[in-house]
Amino acid sequence: MSQHVSLTPPGFVPGTVFAIGRNYADHARELGNDVPTSPMFFLKASSCVVGPGSVLPLPPGLTEIHHEVELVVRLGKSSAEGRPVVEAYTVGIDLTDRVLQNQLKSQGMPWAAAKSFRAAAPVAEFIPAANVADVQALTLRLWVNGILKQEGDTSLMIHPVAKLVTFLANSHDLQPGDLIFTGTPSGVGPLRSGDRVEIGLFNVADRLTGTTFTVA
Ligand code: ZN
Repeated sequence: MSQHVSLTPPGFVPGTVFAIGRNYADHARELGNDVPTSPMFFLKASSCVVGPGSVLPLPPGLTEIHHEVELVVRLGKSSAEGRPVVEAYTVGIDLTDRVLQNQLKSQGMPWAAAKSFRAAAPVAEFIPAANVADVQALTLRLWVNGILKQEGDTSLMIHPVAKLVTFLANSHDLQPGDLIFTGTPSGVGPLRSGDRVEIGLFNVADRLTGTTFTVA
């Protein structure tokens, strides 16, 4: 039914999957949302995370699945002083059932069903944080069938990565393997069966990581 590619390092099992909403002003505006003054977050089940090249099954009964390309942060072992440490980065997609999300929002219900479903958090290979000189100077891109749909710079995040980590650490004992999806820039849109979705994370000179998924 679905072909999930395992994550690296081999045997890596993600911990809690945090996801930040409305962290780029242009995306908040395209959905007609206010830009929050403090970060807002939601959770996706850890089993939603699937690795590079995975086939993404469109869940039966869901209505309109949108792509949201995002920088993904992986936490490592905390420092001796208990400070959370970012160990790796990648690029991933926060798959979202937009119609269901809007229904749930209008009913004052939690978003979980629109954000957490099989393969709803596909990611590329992680790269060590030490290889990234400035995480707030990266570019995210997403193509559907070869057409560029999303392009955004992490310099445009409302709440930068260090602030997101501190914010979540205020209310959680963050664990090695926890992931943070850090929000999407504008350009979100629907995916259909058979689409090929390519994502990439770039610095000024190079493509740091990326992959292509197929929508089943
Ligand atoms: Zn998102």
